[in-house]
Amino acid sequence: MRLLIVEDEKRLALSLAKGLTAEGFAVDVVHDGLEGLHQAADGSYDLVILDIMLPGMNGYRVCSTLRSAGHDVPILMLTAKDGEYDEAEGLDTGADDYLTKPFSYVVLVARVKALLRRRGSAGGASPVHVLGDLKVDTAARRVFLGEDEIALTTKEFAVLEQLVVRAGEVVSKAEILEHVWDFAYEGDPNIVEVYISTLRRKLGAALIRTVRGAGYRLEAR
Ligand code: CA
Repeated sequence: MRLLIVEDEKRLALSLAKGLTAEGFAVDVVHDGLEGLHQAADGSYDLVILDIMLPGMNGYRVCSTLRSAGHDVPILMLTAKDGEYDEAEGLDTGADDYLTKPFSYVVLVARVKALLRRRGSAGGASPVHVLGDLKVDTAARRVFLGEDEIALTTKEFAVLEQLVVRAGEVVSKAEILEHVWDFAYEGDPNIVEVYISTLRRKLGAALIRTVRGAGYRLEAR
């Protein structure tokens, strides 16, 4: 799951990014409304956290511009204090939810997850994916092999999730990197291989096929 944070208070943006990254999300941060609009419009985000008072373009306009261009990415709006934000106006522009600063980090994470879940069920996709004896619950973030629950780290889970939601299809290493890490990741792209081999060790070698030169495919045994 890939999130975009559009927030000009840099310390807040960075601490949110840090926390959400630890939750297993890939997070990009921009500090300007216009830049936020461009990033969000490229369409590869699962959710956008959008401040209202921003340089470049304010959050209301970013939101309404995205909606009128047909983008339906879930948007969680942030506002500085009670009263600045007109809830009706915000929801009019097409925001899905809003939070008033200062908010607790736990509440933010809960709202983010609720929006992502709502999005998942609106699309008709079940959060539980079953493939042979593998069962992956993307809402509860639990993985079972037969009756046994398999413990995965947040990154391992995120890599598996990319494969399981597209089971039977080839998923490239670049796509996994982009969704699980973030665009600023400058480490070795072979990190994906390391996670794939850990997943094979935990879930069985035959589950994840390597498709030479193309990527990986999850297959039922
Ligand atoms: Ca602001």
